[in-house]
Amino acid sequence: MNVRTLAVATGMVALTVLPFAAQAPNTTDINARIRQEAMNNSQIMRTLHYLSDIYGPRLTGSPNHKAAAEWAVNQMTTWGFTNGHLEPWDFGREGWLNEYLAVHVTAPFKDAMVVEALGWTPSTPGKVNAKAFNLIVPEGPEAPPSPNAPAGAGARGVGRGPARLGPTQAELTAYLESVKSKVAGGAVLVGKPIFVPVNLSPAAGRLTDEQVKCRFDEYAASLPECANARGGFGQRGGGAPAGRGAATPTDRLTTAQVAEQVDKFLFDSKAALRINDAGRPHGQIVAFNSRGYDTSKAVPTVVMRNEDYGRIARTLADGTPVEIQAEIVNKTYPEGRTSYNTIAEIAGSDKKDEVVMLGGHLDSWHSATGATDNAVGCAIMMEAARILKTIGVQPRRTIRVALWSGEEEGLLGSLAYVKEHFGSAENPKPEFAKFAGYLNIDTGTGKARGASVFGPPEAGKILRDALAPVKDLGVGGATVTTSRNVGGTDSTSFNNAGLPGIGFAQDSIEYNSHTHHTNLDTYERVIEDDVKDSAVVVATLLYQLAMRDEMLPRLSPGDMPAPPPARTGGN
Ligand SMILES: [Zn+2]
Repeated sequence: MNVRTLAVATGMVALTVLPFAAQAPNTTDINARIRQEAMNNSQIMRTLHYLSDIYGPRLTGSPNHKAAAEWAVNQMTTWGFTNGHLEPWDFGREGWLNEYLAVHVTAPFKDAMVVEALGWTPSTPGKVNAKAFNLIVPEGPEAPPSPNAPAGAGARGVGRGPARLGPTQAELTAYLESVKSKVAGGAVLVGKPIFVPVNLSPAAGRLTDEQVKCRFDEYAASLPECANARGGFGQRGGGAPAGRGAATPTDRLTTAQVAEQVDKFLFDSKAALRINDAGRPHGQIVAFNSRGYDTSKAVPTVVMRNEDYGRIARTLADGTPVEIQAEIVNKTYPEGRTSYNTIAEIAGSDKKDEVVMLGGHLDSWHSATGATDNAVGCAIMMEAARILKTIGVQPRRTIRVALWSGEEEGLLGSLAYVKEHFGSAENPKPEFAKFAGYLNIDTGTGKARGASVFGPPEAGKILRDALAPVKDLGVGGATVTTSRNVGGTDSTSFNNAGLPGIGFAQDSIEYNSHTHHTNLDTYERVIEDDVKDSAVVVATLLYQLAMRDEMLPRLSPGDMPAPPPARTGGN
């Protein structure tokens, strides 16, 4: 007799002797059934395939995003969810998509260049041929040391030599005037090729158990081995640009001021094509949006892989002319000014007016299919709710899946939803008091290793207890935050309102090094075993939050920090 058979047999005996014990949910049994359904009948990779391969990329305001959202509603309805619908919010910008893209060097060599279109830029008028020109804005003198830099560090960019101040207005104007004829009708490479040093450190993979313990264990603060292990976890993005923090003398233009003037100059001078350097290794390209998301004020623009950009720039620097042929077809969609959050529910029972939410953002950037950011997060959350529905759990609270749009442009969809439904601690709507937590996942394929909740220490304790059954999957526990700053991902839209947003921390697995926002963000980069484990973790916690007698405790009005000023930019 194995352990599981023994448990079942013991349960049957208890049932016979004490029939009323069956009234309380048997959590051990539920947890086992969650795992069984997650492992034997997983729908995650199928969902991922549809959201990434078929509907990706899912740029906010694009028909792709809307089609993906409609597919998700239909899918969840098929699984037996109710109240599936798209909930509109005002994106305020037209949608945009690239449909065709080809950039070649035709002389002095012939080769296809690896590029992505910059979002919200226009098409070329058919196939255009243009002479390449490398626009290199003059620099000022070496920047003074940053007041924030460690002593002796100076203001040096890594591997790029000393940081330099920008030009004066007179220097910039004179330079731009001198190159006007080369820019008109030209293919303009903007900036010196970016030097990307060979990286000798391996990309971050899995967190060690010790790192997880130090971050999420209740007693981490008092553990001596955690004294040096708390930093460096889950950090996003690269280092600060060289020279940031240094005081800019008033006669010198900042990087942003120069960039704005160069944008306008290229547009006014009628450049045929603009080429930006991706500035990342191994052909990685990140392509976001043009300034102001306005195709009517931009020139046709591509982001080119660093290796191709460097090749053209070096050839030009030799004094050899380079001919470029480009054809770009981009479409805009006025109807994209209205975007949609994707909603579906499993109705609750005795506490059905209370709601526990879970989700992630369905929108993506456009240079790949947005598989790890964040189709897979949506697939995991849909799956966690599907598992509970399929195994026949009758939740006490209503479970609501929400797949956001507008996250990449600044968490816009979730912020609109929270404002519309819940208000904030300062201006609560009736639903504010009935909100039992929001679970979010948005850091790629790596499995969930811990969670963070906005609220008092008791909320962290409840999460740690609820996650104890999945400790064997590598989950370390939970921690609390009282930051109302908006940033990173959609759970912070709830934190910002003073509500219990719950974000999962995940193993890094190539996320920040390779797939996050890049042209390499595809289905192939998802590890099936990891995302199945994540669905088990989410379903286990979701069950507890839907069933427990009390909702998660909130910060008292006296402990609630003031809301910070609004910001933009998502992940
Ligand atoms: Zn994301």
